[in-house]
Amino acid sequence: MSGELTVSPPLIDECEVVPRTLCGPGPSDYWPSVVEALTRPVLTFSTDEYFKVVDDIRNCLKYVFQTQSDLVLAMSGAGHTGMEAVICNLLGPGETLLIAGRGIWDDRACEMAKRYGIKTVVTKVPPHTTFVEQDLEPMLRRIRPAALFITHGDSSTGTIQDLSWVGKLCQKYGALLLVDTVVSIGGAPFLMDAWAVDAVYTSSQKALSGPAGISPIAFSKLAERKIQTRKHDPPFYFDIKMLSKQWNCYGDTRFYHHTMSPPLMWALRASLMELCKETLPASWARHRRVMLHFHKRLSEMPVQFYVPDPMHRLPTITTISLPEGYDAVKFAKYMANELKVVIMAGLGPTAPGGRVLRVGLMGANACEEVADRVVQAMADTLSAMRRSKL
Ligand SMILES: *Cc1c(COP(=O)(O)O)cnc(C)c1O
Repeated sequence: MSGELTVSPPLIDECEVVPRTLCGPGPSDYWPSVVEALTRPVLTFSTDEYFKVVDDIRNCLKYVFQTQSDLVLAMSGAGHTGMEAVICNLLGPGETLLIAGRGIWDDRACEMAKRYGIKTVVTKVPPHTTFVEQDLEPMLRRIRPAALFITHGDSSTGTIQDLSWVGKLCQKYGALLLVDTVVSIGGAPFLMDAWAVDAVYTSSQKALSGPAGISPIAFSKLAERKIQTRKHDPPFYFDIKMLSKQWNCYGDTRFYHHTMSPPLMWALRASLMELCKETLPASWARHRRVMLHFHKRLSEMPVQFYVPDPMHRLPTITTISLPEGYDAVKFAKYMANELKVVIMAGLGPTAPGGRVLRVGLMGANACEEVADRVVQAMADTLSAMRRSKL
C-alpha cells in the first residue's frame, strides 16, 4: 500500500425519520404499491423483464397523457429534466420561444432556454389568474415563435390553465405547444392529442405519488418531425433521438444510452398502474371532490384563497393567504415539526409578503380524511401562533 489517507471516514449516526403526512406541493407520500415496487429485484438491460417494464411504462403513459404518439418515454431525472428536454430538443440557437408566464416554472423555462442561445419573449398575466385567448393571440401573431411554453397546473400560484383552445391557436401561427403538467397529471383533465399539445412532461413525485427522479415526456407527430429534421444537437443525455431507441419507441430497438434506475422504473410503473386501475376520470373526480371538501372546511377559518376565481383553482394545490401578522414560513415549520403535517410557504410570485401557504392534496393523499387532518393542523397552528403572539 502506498500513500497516506488524508481524509478519515466520517462518523455517521443513525438517521431516524419521523413519519409525517406530506401535503406540500411535492414530494407526496407514496402509494403502498410503490413502496413495494421500490424493493423489487434489479432490472438489467437486455433481459426480457427490462423490456417488458419499458413497454408497460410507455403503454400506461400513452393512456395518462391521452396520446396515440409513439414518442413517449421517461427521462432519468426530476421534473426539471423533462422541462429541459422539451426545450432543448425542439428549439435551437436563434429560434424564439414565447413563454406564457404566471409562476416560477415559466421563469425556469426562460432561464433554460437562454442557456441554449434560444431567444425568449415573456408575456405575463397576474399570478392569481390564467391566460385567455386575447392575451396570447397578438403575441403569437407578432412574434411568430417556434414554440409557446405554458404551465398547465402551476404549483407556485395554485392556478390551472384552460388549455383546450391553446393548441389550435398555436397551430394557426405555426408554433409548437410545450406544456408543463408536473403537478396536474392525474389530478386534473389533460388530453394531449385532443388539445393539440406538441410536447408535454410530468414528474413522478406529485399526483403520481411516487419517488422523484423519473420524468415522463411525450411528443406529437409534428414535434417528432421537428426533432428528426432539426439542425442542432441537444446535450447527449437529453437527446430524444437516442432515448427513443433506448425506450423502444418504434418497436425495433434495444439501444443502450445510459443505465436507468431500476427502483425508479419499478416505482413509476406501479404509480402509473394505480392510475390506470382507478381510471383517469375517476382520479380527476376524486381530486376535485377532495378539493371542494377542503375549500369548504377552509372557509370556517380566518384565511383567504390566494386565487379568487374558483374556476382558476388547481385541484391538486391550494394557495392560502394567512391573516395579517402571520409568517407562512414559521407556520409551515410549526406544522411540520409539532404536528407532523407538511405544507409549504409560497414560492416565486407567492413568496413576497410571506403570508401564502401551499397545500397539496394529490395522489394517495387526495382523500377527505387527509384533508381534514390538514384543516385540524392548520387550526391548531393558528391558535398556537396566536397564543405565542405569533
Ligand atoms: C414541482 C414542479 C416542477 C419541478 O419538478 P422537480 O421534480 O422538482 O424538478 C415543475 N413544474 C411544476 C408545475 C411543479 O409543480
